[in-house]
Amino acid sequence: MSVKDYIRTIPDFPSPGIMFRDVTTLFGDPRGFRMAVDLLLHPWAGVRIDKVAGLEARGFILGGAVAHQLSAGFVPMRKKGKLPGRTIEQSYKLEYGTATLEVHDDAIKPGEKVLLVDDLLATGGTALAGLTLIEKLGGQTLGCAFVIDLPELGGRQLLEAAGHQVHALCA
Ligand code: 5GP
Repeated sequence: MSVKDYIRTIPDFPSPGIMFRDVTTLFGDPRGFRMAVDLLLHPWAGVRIDKVAGLEARGFILGGAVAHQLSAGFVPMRKKGKLPGRTIEQSYKLEYGTATLEVHDDAIKPGEKVLLVDDLLATGGTALAGLTLIEKLGGQTLGCAFVIDLPELGGRQLLEAAGHQVHALCA
């Protein structure tokens, strides 16, 4: 079985016409989850990674496991208003309107090498906001790793044009 075989598609979620890629079935399978975590790290084998940044919410599950695997620290990047300490923020465009991502302002030290992790890359807006926050704190972005890339939405092009390495396990 490949990683893709563990992911199911739920039609009309969260709204009619959307085909939602549900990764809970991947996370719920011991083999699938381990395979995904191991494969996410492949391009960075042998590279020092100080911190893994995970995007709310499924990026927390994956990023936490990846960080543990590396003995690295984990940095949660959350939707506005959820983090208790002092934060910096980055807004990004959604299909309708905008959203804001926040990180604690002391979560990454200048010069630290940081890998961004999330479950799915669509337009790339969320990931680019996360990468921007890492750089605002003086961190060095090593790139970003996703389980799924939806290539028709252009996220990879957006991130690569901004100079970021993009790794995805399946489309
Ligand atoms: P983007 O900013 O690249 O357009 O959207 C990516 C974000 O939306 C990710 O944080 C991802 O979790 C979420 N997302 C959008 N569509 C889906 C989907 O079909 N399945 C899952 N699991 N997440 C999605």
